[in-house]
Amino acid sequence: MIPREYHRFTAAGRDFLYLVPSAAVFELDETANEVLGAVERGEEVADTDTESLRELISIRAIRGGHVEDPPYQGKQLPPANFPLTTMVLNVTNQCNLACTYCYEYGEDKIVDTGNGKKPKFMNVETARESVEFLLRESGINRVAHLTFFGGETLLNLPVLKFAIEYARGRAAELGKEIDFSLTTNATLLRPDVIEFLAENRVGVTISIDGPKEVQDQFRVFHNGQGSYETVAPKIRELLQRHRSRPIGARVTLTSQNLDIRKIFRHLREEIGFWEVGFAPVTTAPNRQYAISDDGFDSMLQQFRDLAGEFLEYALENRHHGFSNVKDTLEEIHKGVSKAYPCGAGLGLMGVSTDGDVALCHRFAGSDDHKLGTVRGGIDRLVQIGFLEKHHIDEKTDCSKCWARPLCSGGCYHEAHTRYGDTGRANLHYCEWIRGWTDTCLKIYAELAVRNPGYLNSSMTRRWNLKHLRSINRKACRIEKQIPDDVVALQQGGPPQQAPQAHFPLGCTLIFSPGWEADRNGGTAGLCTPVERDLFDCHAGCYWPAQVPDQLNHAPNWTSKCASAQKDWRKIDLVFP
Ligand code: SF4
Ligand code: SF4
Repeated sequence: MIPREYHRFTAAGRDFLYLVPSAAVFELDETANEVLGAVERGEEVADTDTESLRELISIRAIRGGHVEDPPYQGKQLPPANFPLTTMVLNVTNQCNLACTYCYEYGEDKIVDTGNGKKPKFMNVETARESVEFLLRESGINRVAHLTFFGGETLLNLPVLKFAIEYARGRAAELGKEIDFSLTTNATLLRPDVIEFLAENRVGVTISIDGPKEVQDQFRVFHNGQGSYETVAPKIRELLQRHRSRPIGARVTLTSQNLDIRKIFRHLREEIGFWEVGFAPVTTAPNRQYAISDDGFDSMLQQFRDLAGEFLEYALENRHHGFSNVKDTLEEIHKGVSKAYPCGAGLGLMGVSTDGDVALCHRFAGSDDHKLGTVRGGIDRLVQIGFLEKHHIDEKTDCSKCWARPLCSGGCYHEAHTRYGDTGRANLHYCEWIRGWTDTCLKIYAELAVRNPGYLNSSMTRRWNLKHLRSINRKACRIEKQIPDDVVALQQGGPPQQAPQAHFPLGCTLIFSPGWEADRNGGTAGLCTPVERDLFDCHAGCYWPAQVPDQLNHAPNWTSKCASAQKDWRKIDLVFP
């Protein structure tokens, strides 16, 4: 008997198991806990405990017994012509602020926005072609998402307005819908602009760092003057008048800006944002504002404190507004297990001012990360090359990590800035990711025990297990399948309906590397990178993708490798 991959944790005085890579969460009773401990220590399991042993084998927490592991079927790339769900339109590469840490204009920028190679503003014709590109590439999806970005997005209001009107009309002609959102620094929010955003139900994310002394440290105008006094009244007006969508704040954390509780209080309670999300600054490690290891520790502790507060609110079914924890709980609930950290280059793409298409908004305008043009379409060979290289199978550093179902190596842009290679795993924040994932698992489990209604959880039900209790949706799927072999789950899915691509249905149904779809075969309802990419996409960016699964496909994926960093050549890597 050999333990497989999992992460153990306790919450509400009980013992839990997070299975990797299936991302199922089970509660263990006392017997199962002892049996698992015995297997971990290499001890014999008493005859009286065989039932719980059998259950642990059947959920694939332990390898052994009569449960056969099916042959691994190899790395699977997404289906060809995967529908584009979200297009981020960089309507300008100009900004009226000069934030020191900005990845677009600061010391770590990857696109030259100053030498005139790219137009400063997108014109109407490129916006029109971009909308056509989105509608064309959205394929079978009924809903497409159009997000406006910059520079400072509102510097190009005429093109933004044109794009919204044109997109809405064209989508209606094609029987589709388009959802709109934008990110802004709030400096140009005038009453007429706010009215327009509210009337058109445009989702708004405000980039802001907190109270005056924090905001004015980095978020300054070109003359060095702080922007707080300019933006605060405009944001208050926006929050008062734009009621058709919740408005979120997105905070960039730096070494000098780490008082997370204070920032949260100010933005949530004093300003009145519905949600506040935090992301550490993307930067080379030697920058003064880069967050050090100690900084990450402090950040984690403060995140934990706020998450604890979130838990107290959730136990009383109250809204709290700390979006980082909410986003991670959603992923845990579904049992998300990603082959790619986010939708960049797949369901999400960024468009530069001249119509070049790149991985995401952060790469828009970079020739090295170009995937095509809105006129000529996506270069499928380049896209496939990108997907081949960036699949989780290729990240040997992550092959032993229990947090990989949610992290999958982390943001490509962060990796590029840190290591000069989008394909590298972001090893500088592993401890932080694992610490945060552990915290969110505990919160999830505590909610499942003390207020399952908040999670809409069915954990109070039992199907086929006595010593284990299914906590999240993936675990429920596994339990319902027992005593049949859970292998059968991977063989389901809807019959292929030519000419549509085949999508296995629903994230909690599949265990193999696969691609989710909603019940209509689209991804719109499932894919939430829409605003999240532009909100706190470092930590929360979610793309419905599945990794090699030791339950069914890759039972021995890492078994020959004691330490991924040292023995990576021995890893049973999965090639197509
Ligand atoms: S980057 Fe680090 S935390 Fe993320 S999956 Fe890889 S090893 Fe785990
Ligand atoms: S996490 Fe966000 S910024 Fe990073 S590569 Fe993905 S979409 Fe781009």
